[in-house]
Amino acid sequence: VWENCLKTIRSSLPEHTFNTWFVPIVPLSLHNNTLTIQVPSPFYYEYIEENYLEILRKAIDKELGPEGKLEYSVVVDKGNAQSLPKTMTVPNTKIELDIKPLENKTNPDLQKRKMQILKEYESFFRDIQFNENYTFDNFVEGDCNRLARAAGLAVAKKPGVTAFNPLMLYGGVGLGKTHLVQAIANHVRFNSPEKIVVYVSSEKFVNQFIDEIKNDKIQKLTNFYLQIDVLIIDDVQFLAGKVKTQEMFFHIFNHLHQHGKQIIMTSDRPPKELQGLEDRLLSRFKWGLTADLQQPDFETRVAIILKKLQNEGIEISYDVVEYLAHNIDSNIRELEGVIVSLLARSNLERREIDLQLARETIKHIIQKVDERRPETADVDIENIQKAVCQYFNVKEEDIKGKSRTQNIVKARQIAMYLCKEYTELSLKAIGYHFGGRDHSTVIHAIQTISDLIEVDSSVRQDVNALMKIIGKNE
Ligand code: ADP
Ligand code: MG
Repeated sequence: VWENCLKTIRSSLPEHTFNTWFVPIVPLSLHNNTLTIQVPSPFYYEYIEENYLEILRKAIDKELGPEGKLEYSVVVDKGNAQSLPKTMTVPNTKIELDIKPLENKTNPDLQKRKMQILKEYESFFRDIQFNENYTFDNFVEGDCNRLARAAGLAVAKKPGVTAFNPLMLYGGVGLGKTHLVQAIANHVRFNSPEKIVVYVSSEKFVNQFIDEIKNDKIQKLTNFYLQIDVLIIDDVQFLAGKVKTQEMFFHIFNHLHQHGKQIIMTSDRPPKELQGLEDRLLSRFKWGLTADLQQPDFETRVAIILKKLQNEGIEISYDVVEYLAHNIDSNIRELEGVIVSLLARSNLERREIDLQLARETIKHIIQKVDERRPETADVDIENIQKAVCQYFNVKEEDIKGKSRTQNIVKARQIAMYLCKEYTELSLKAIGYHFGGRDHSTVIHAIQTISDLIEVDSSVRQDVNALMKIIGKNE
């Protein structure tokens, strides 16, 4: 029976989807119209139910008739299968998922705990920012993000309880990592107001530790992190090479994980390519689930454009939507930028949004993209150091080290100068990344290079060449 079901299912799904989600399923038994299948993990079960229920229902219907039922057996630990209490009656599409009730939302003790912690650590909470627009509702689903979104939703519904701890999302710039993790944050904040949710970029995380080391408040900062229920660290690639901060994070990670607290991370590359991160940390990242966000396909881009327009309360002709989706295929942030410009132009020039206006806008933006000055890009201090070292053929440990060799000093100063130009880091933070130098050394370096650029054409050329390299590698 299952074989036949698979045939039906296969014909209505893309090959890779079928292979991912249905091939691993093992048929267990068939009693009185109830087919039991074994799925490899709770996540499989949820994912299949959420996304392929309709298809499954059709297949079962065809094989077992309208009385047919499907039961899942979910492998929880390897080799230790547990039947979920939930069954699915085939003709009904509306299924109550077996979700454990959330902790009592109004539990006064938990509320009180939260208020106390908020008060005690007020200074650290002050700069945590949530974007209320980053919700699951506003996050358009497509093949490019289906797994990441589903995992995110599962975690948002039951933080710390699912097998996806930590949840690690990775993908290129502007593909929705921050949106998705903030959607999780917003979901939890709304549904479990007693939970402490913290969102922090890893750059901020690093800088916090640097600042508090200076203030002797490192213990307090660490304690703050140990109290969190849902910890979100965005762009962990920035932790590369930050040995001390990684040590703190390792400690925090272990503590939270052991206490069933949820950890969520994003990265611009898959964990195995995260150089400069300690192995013991990387191996922990793999404990949970890793999911990637890919470039959206055409249909998804159309859906995203429509969603954004809908949020703005604006309708434009489908031609224009398709034209935009067709021409902007790099990332979603860029797509948004074009929509914003298009609306602005239409407003300013009092013109209707038509193909002509869309063409002009795109031309304008694409030109702008080409000429984009590197400082508007997200440049990583690591990349700058790498580029400079390669360019001057010196070792990275040397520019962080004590050497006063002329060539190394020059490379070091130019690197510091570029860090000031292209990153948001404070002088203090830049000094830290260059072997713990203090900020007056950084000021001196920046001043020296600024002066040399004026008078020494070889330095000017070096800096210009490096700007090009860095700008391209953003
Ligand atoms: P990343 O953190 O991966 O660089 P962001 O989360 O900042 O990307 O996303 C860039 C922009 O694109 C944001 O404004 C976000 O709202 C939007 N965006 C990304 N993915 C989606 C999506 N699937 N649906 C709707 N908007 C999206
Ligand atoms: Mg981001």
